Amino acid sequence: MVATIADREKELLDRVPTGLLIGGQWRDATGGATFDVEDPATGRTLLSIADASPEDGKAALDAAAAAQESWGRTPARERGEILRRAFDAVTARADEFALLMSLEMGKPLAEAKGEVTYGAEFLRWFSEEAVRAFGRYSASPEGKLRVLTVKKPVGPCLLITPWNFPLAMATRKIAPAIAAGCTMVLKPAALTPLTSQLFAQVLMDAGLPAGVLNVVATTSAGKVTGPLIKDDRLRKISFTGSTPVGRRLLADASETVLRTSMELGGNAPFLVFEDADVDAAVEGAMAAKMRNMGEACTAANRFLVHRDVAEQFSTAFAEKMKALTLGRGTEESTTVGPLIDAKSRDKVHELVTAAVEDGAKPLVGGAPAEGDGYFYQPTVLADVPAGNRILQEEIFGPVAPITVFDDEDEAVRLANATEYGLAAYVFTKDLNRGLRIGERLEVGLLGLNAGVISNAAAPFGGVKQSGMGREGGTEGLSEYLSTQYVGISDPWADLA
Ligand code: NAD
Repeated sequence: MVATIADREKELLDRVPTGLLIGGQWRDATGGATFDVEDPATGRTLLSIADASPEDGKAALDAAAAAQESWGRTPARERGEILRRAFDAVTARADEFALLMSLEMGKPLAEAKGEVTYGAEFLRWFSEEAVRAFGRYSASPEGKLRVLTVKKPVGPCLLITPWNFPLAMATRKIAPAIAAGCTMVLKPAALTPLTSQLFAQVLMDAGLPAGVLNVVATTSAGKVTGPLIKDDRLRKISFTGSTPVGRRLLADASETVLRTSMELGGNAPFLVFEDADVDAAVEGAMAAKMRNMGEACTAANRFLVHRDVAEQFSTAFAEKMKALTLGRGTEESTTVGPLIDAKSRDKVHELVTAAVEDGAKPLVGGAPAEGDGYFYQPTVLADVPAGNRILQEEIFGPVAPITVFDDEDEAVRLANATEYGLAAYVFTKDLNRGLRIGERLEVGLLGLNAGVISNAAAPFGGVKQSGMGREGGTEGLSEYLSTQYVGISDPWADLA
C-alpha cells in the first residue's frame, strides 16, 4: 500500500524522541510537564514533548560536567569520526530532516533540503577540523624560555538556538564543540525543538558517549538556563537569537566571567549601484530577501538602490515577488511558507502599515494572506523615507523596503546607520568599488554580487550589536578551545 502524505508525516513524528536527553537517556521532565509543538501552516499540534524544569536543567549540567574529563581526553580522531558518521546519517536521512523542519518551522521543502545540506556540512567540516587543534613551540625573543602552547577544550557549554534554522543553528554549535572535546547542554527554541530531538538521537546512534550532549527543550527558557549560567561548572555560553535576549545573557554571564559567543540580530543593507548587472541584482535580492520567508538574521532588510536604476530594479523585483506561491511548506508548488506565529505576522504588518502611513508605496503585497496559518504576502515598498521604523528594526518577514541613493558616500552612510552589523550585500560590476565599499561597511559578512553566502568553511558572525565570536571556518573551532601557555626553562642553560 502506498503511504499517504499524512501517513508519512505521522510515521516521521512517531520517530521523534519526546523526552529530555540527560546522561544518555531520554526521560520525562520532573513533574511530567509537556508542551505542544505546532504546525505554523495550520495552527494544529504536531507533537507534545517534555518541558524541562530548572531541576532538569541542573541534571543536564551535572551530566555534562561528569562527562567532560573523559570526553576531553578522547582522541580527536575518534571525536571526528563520530561527527563523520553523523554527517553520513543526516545526509542519508535528508528527506526526513527536511520534512520535519518544514512541518515545525514552515519553510518550503526545497529550502529545508538546502538547510540539511548546509547544516550537515558543519558535521563534515568539523570532523576534519577536529584533528587540527594545533599549538606551537618556539623560543622566546631573548632566548631564555621555550614557549609551548596547548589547545584545550573550554569545558561544559550551554548552547541556545533560535527557531529559524532548526538543524543548521544546532550543528553550527554542536559540531565544533564535539571536535574540540567539550560537553554540552543544548536548549533548542520551544517553537521548533523537534529537529534537535531527532538530530540528538542521530548523534547517539553515531557513538556519542552518554552525557556529552544533553538536550533540554523548555517553555521556561530563562528559569532553566539562568541558574546554569551562574553555575561555576559551566565554562561557555554560545547563543544565537535576538539582540535583546543576547544583552540579557551577557549581563548574566558577567557574574561568572563566562566565555560567550553571541550570534544576534541583523539589519542587512542590500546596495545596488548604477553599474550593477540589474538582472543579477534582482536574483540576488530574491535570495537574500526570501530565503526562509525573510526570517533570517542575514536577510536583506533594506534595499538601497542608485537613483539611475531604481525604477528598473524595483519593477523587476516586484514582478518576481508577485509570482511567488504561498502555501504549506510540504506542498510541491509552495515557494513561500507561513511565518512562525501570529505575533511575528502581526509585527510584520505593523511595520508595513507604519511605513505606508509615512509615505511608502506598496508595489506588491502589503497585507497578511487570508485563511489558516500565519501567512504574509510577499511585499515590495518603494519610496520608504529614511528614518522609518521598518529601516531600523529586523522585519523577519517577506517585505522589501526600497530607498534611493545618489552617490557612494550616501550609500555607505545609510547602510551603516544601524546598531546592527551582521551582513551586507553589494551589487556592482566594478571590483574596486565593491572592495572599497566593503572596507567602509561595518559588518562581519559581505556578499559581493552574491545574495547567499553562508558556508560551513567560512567564519560567520557580526560586529556592533550583532554580536561577537565566529561560527564555521577555522575560527569556529577556536571558539571552543582555550590556549594554555607552558613556559619551559632554557634547554641550553646547562651548557652556559
Ligand atoms: P530569541 O532571542 O527570542 O530566542 C532565541 C533562543 O533564546 C530561543 O531558544 C529562546 O527560547 C531563548 N531565550 C529566550 N529568552 C531567553 C532567556 N531569557 N534566557 C535564555 N534563553 C532565552 O530569538 P528567536 O526569535 O528564536 O530567533 C530570531 C532571532 O535570532 C533574530 O533576531 C535573528 O536575527 C537571530 N538570529 C541570529 C543568527 C546569527 O547567526 N546571528 C542566526 C539566526 C537567528
